[in-house]
Amino acid sequence: MKFLNIPKKSLGQNFLIDKNIINKIIKIGNISKNKTVMEIGAGYGNLTQGIISMKPKTIYAIEKDKKLSLFLKKKFKDAENIKIINKDFLNLIKENFIDSNVIVFGNLPYNISTQILASLIMLKKWPPWYDVLILMFQKEVADRIIAKTRTKEFGRLSVLSNWRLEVQKHFDISKNCFYPKPKINSTLLSFKPKKINLLNLKNPHNLEKITRILFSNRRKMINKNFNKLFNKNKTVIKNLNIDLSKRPEELSNETFYKIAREYEKLFG
Ligand code: SAH
Repeated sequence: MKFLNIPKKSLGQNFLIDKNIINKIIKIGNISKNKTVMEIGAGYGNLTQGIISMKPKTIYAIEKDKKLSLFLKKKFKDAENIKIINKDFLNLIKENFIDSNVIVFGNLPYNISTQILASLIMLKKWPPWYDVLILMFQKEVADRIIAKTRTKEFGRLSVLSNWRLEVQKHFDISKNCFYPKPKINSTLLSFKPKKINLLNLKNPHNLEKITRILFSNRRKMINKNFNKLFNKNKTVIKNLNIDLSKRPEELSNETFYKIAREYEKLFG
């Protein structure tokens, strides 16, 4: 395989070059003919090629790098069902996406992978425009996403992801499957939107805020940070029946969602 340029570190360009892994990832998408697929960061189109071979209705290939997007346009000029979009995904997601039931793939640029995931969780409209996300992360990041309470990996990422998404781990991918070879291995996860969310919030950013503040001091009791959020409001502490001498990683996902709800009741 030939490369046009020196891969850009700033855009997290590590291209997947292992055919076997590409096929395994595509399979997880269960792509059928009437489906719409989106790929975040299509690069040289290695994964895109595999998606095209499944013949979905439409493919949106998002690529921020201008040169690569032109390369993709040339490479796939005969495929009628593909739209190559030369945009930053983090901007694109702010626009109203017109399609629904989309299957999303992404071998995400490492430097913004958690930001991309957060933006897909924080959408106003829920259930969202996608049916499933099949995303690759650095292994350490994936471990934090799937972490359970009372482990050292448990944190904001796990709380936010599990709030609205059903998360599944598929497999690890060796760093040798990429060019240029990154320093660490990767993990493939998939996410399905929870349709019924009993702990709904008017403004998802409240959950972002309370997890940010409560996890700002992982080793300490939540006491101080909790009071910072609620100005020592006794009713809230009673409503939540919460032990303020616990450390944030000892709280369950549900407790965080309930705290966010109380916060929302008071401060909107
Ligand atoms: N999917 C390809 C490329 C993965 S590398 C493969 O598996 O080989 C990540 C790709 O995301 C790069 O092509 C990079 O240019 C692109 N990218 C980086 N930041 C982006 C952003 N904000 N929006 C869209 N694409 C981005």
